[in-house]
Amino acid sequence: MSYKILSLFSLISLCLTSCAQNNNKVLDNETVKLNNTAMNLSEQEWRTKLTPEQYYILREKGTEKPFSGEFTLTKEKGVYKCGGCGEPLFTDDMKFESHCGWPSFDKEIAGGKIIQTEDNTYGMRRTEITCAKCGGHLGHIFDDGPTETGKRYCVNSGSLSFEPQKSNVTQNTTETITLAGGCFWCIEAIFEELKGVSKVESGYSNGNTKNPTYKQVCTGTTGYAEVVQITYNKSIILLEQILEVFFALHDPTTLNRQGADVGTQYRSGIFYQNEEQRKIALKVIETLNKNNAFDNPIVTEINQIKDFYKAENYHQEYYELNKEQPYCKAVIKPKMDKLHKIFAEKLKTKKI
Ligand SMILES: [Zn+2]
Repeated sequence: MSYKILSLFSLISLCLTSCAQNNNKVLDNETVKLNNTAMNLSEQEWRTKLTPEQYYILREKGTEKPFSGEFTLTKEKGVYKCGGCGEPLFTDDMKFESHCGWPSFDKEIAGGKIIQTEDNTYGMRRTEITCAKCGGHLGHIFDDGPTETGKRYCVNSGSLSFEPQKSNVTQNTTETITLAGGCFWCIEAIFEELKGVSKVESGYSNGNTKNPTYKQVCTGTTGYAEVVQITYNKSIILLEQILEVFFALHDPTTLNRQGADVGTQYRSGIFYQNEEQRKIALKVIETLNKNNAFDNPIVTEINQIKDFYKAENYHQEYYELNKEQPYCKAVIKPKMDKLHKIFAEKLKTKKI
């Protein structure tokens, strides 16, 4: 095998995913008649619960002075709730700048949370909007909105409360990918050392039986591949970078074989968990082929992960615990040396 490209990452154009979609449905704002039973508070209780300004707007149908409310110009991400009962009514992406002096929205959160009622006070024909849950007055709705809904929910800031969107950075950046590159003892040791990788487990994937043992997998008849399941933080290491190391440190051109290890259990494979991972795997292989990174075509299998069975405990961290064994010295040690030489920058601890 010859690995000609050391800086694969620079060659891969990142196909990172798209912007958030706005899935809010446009509502037919039919008048919904609901009983105001969910919040059965006396006026005295409302006075205690609300500030005088909130009470004036929500309970006495008052209107705050234009440009005086705290949410008139806000653009922060989050949910606008009823100031009386906390019911979520609008989200930030429904808000637009109307220059009318009050917070304006072009739609409401679905579910009949807002009631529309004809309002003929002050010599005008308007449509009042109130919270379906507590009956609190919110403002009025007009048919002069500039967006595709044509609606303008003109709402008093004083009738709303705002809950900012929580940061979900840490939740969404952890992923797992399952890779097969021959004997799992070798590849586990490699990925353990990468920055951004929090867990590596050896196991068996995509075979035909249940609960396979090492002995059964070694026969080459179970369909299982020896794999490592890698948990990584996308904000520290990208899948492209993990695959760069993967392709540099095993031979993806020999079908069902890594060196002296022969059998389908030693096949080269990427078992993805989602569409984004599949696309990245295809792109990385396409780039390697285009650049003739290997003398022979890449035979790495790309398939959705069907299952993962963690291997017996004595296989976990095998290299770390068995460095003096002949196999480790002969096969794994050279790979680790190569890792330390080529990918020093990507390692948890620099080893040169
Ligand atoms: Zn309410």
